[in-house]
Amino acid sequence: MVRTRFAPSPTGYLHIGGARTALFSWAFARKHGGKFILRIEDTDLERSTQLSVQAILDGMAWLGLDYDEGPFYQMQRLARYHEVAEQLLQNNLAYRCYASKEELDLLREQQRAAGLKPRYDGRWRDAKQPPPAEVKPVIRFKNPTEGHVVFDDLVKGKIVVANSELDDLVLLRSDGIPTYNFGVIVDDLDMNISHVIRGDDHVNNTPRQINILKALDAPIPQYAHVPMILGADGERLSKRHGAVSVMHYHEEGYLPEAMINYLARLGWSHGDEEIFSTDQLIEWFDLATISRSPAKFNPEKLMWLNQHYLKNKEEVHIAELMTPFLEQDGCHIPNQQYLLKVINLLKERVNTISELADAAVYFFRPLEPSYDLKAQYFNPEAKSILLYLIDKFNSLDWNRQAIQDEIKKAAATFNVKLPKVAMPLRIVITGEAQTPSIDAILELLGRTETLKRINQQIS
Ligand code: GLU
Repeated sequence: MVRTRFAPSPTGYLHIGGARTALFSWAFARKHGGKFILRIEDTDLERSTQLSVQAILDGMAWLGLDYDEGPFYQMQRLARYHEVAEQLLQNNLAYRCYASKEELDLLREQQRAAGLKPRYDGRWRDAKQPPPAEVKPVIRFKNPTEGHVVFDDLVKGKIVVANSELDDLVLLRSDGIPTYNFGVIVDDLDMNISHVIRGDDHVNNTPRQINILKALDAPIPQYAHVPMILGADGERLSKRHGAVSVMHYHEEGYLPEAMINYLARLGWSHGDEEIFSTDQLIEWFDLATISRSPAKFNPEKLMWLNQHYLKNKEEVHIAELMTPFLEQDGCHIPNQQYLLKVINLLKERVNTISELADAAVYFFRPLEPSYDLKAQYFNPEAKSILLYLIDKFNSLDWNRQAIQDEIKKAAATFNVKLPKVAMPLRIVITGEAQTPSIDAILELLGRTETLKRINQQIS
């Protein structure tokens, strides 16, 4: 049975890289009818926060990455780590190390001075001396000193590391909290993880984790280390590259289906397919087709995908997503039918739900045109034209075609080009210079509101 996990540390929001890792683990489990487990690695007490836990849960919920088990919290599993550490101690596969911090600092300094890579020298590994009373020990793993760790990474291929490269890593700190590597292997073991899919920043930890699992006679999961995500400048993706929090895109009015589609293409592909549904992703997803080279984060492409999904989304669903944005903009929605018509008119012109809401504001409340627009378009002639239109609109059979005909007639009557009529009208009605066709807007807005707005601006 395939069992995968996502194991974030709750030290910030859910970022693009984390969400991509979660998505791959999730898609792999779903494809194989397996289980996807969420584990919160909250052992870094200084940096872990409840707010971050919530941000991770919210991000996953928004993306639809549902988990079958969890969330498990490592800080609630301390007794279990102690139990496993004790087992290793008893089997002489781990030992207590009483080296003080000062001592270890000095050791590192000396190693550096001698041009060596700083590493623990195993001074308490087989120590016979009595432990110093004042030092609280850590528990270290007795890493094998000979041989190699070999594993077949499902993305990177065969990886071989000499044990002589690895020192005796700390399993439990003196405060009883497990280190990252120890917490991970106890959890991966207890949670029966079959495939560890994670960022390749962890690839150096894997040989250490395999050694501990071997010492416990535990099965070794398969590993797939996913290449990292870079910003446009080729540096590792970070805040410097703009918004990297998944929920930022939610707040900006992106659609989760666009985000999922985009994340899937960060380091994975299926032929030339760019646009695919989550079901297709599950059907096609394969660890073997994860790219070996880093992916580049491209916000324009994400926006392009979002526009695609927005265009094809049912208007009632868009309405639901858009309503909070409109309310935030101080818009009152008179009825659902009206909102749906507004959406229909605008949705192909925008990239996101929030842009859609911004573009729709004048349908719900008048917007004051800028000083520049007024200066450019409001002259005595424009005013006469608008007065003429008020008169005509008063008795018009209110529909798009009739409105358009009336605008054309006004241009002919005043002997001006069409924009000389349409622009002042557009600006008094919408406050903006770029909108869909003004006759369509007026039809929707209705006669009363149209006349009210023209009157307000020309009086
Ligand atoms: N807590 C680790 C991280 O957030 C997860 C490592 C793993 O998946 O093993 O990077």
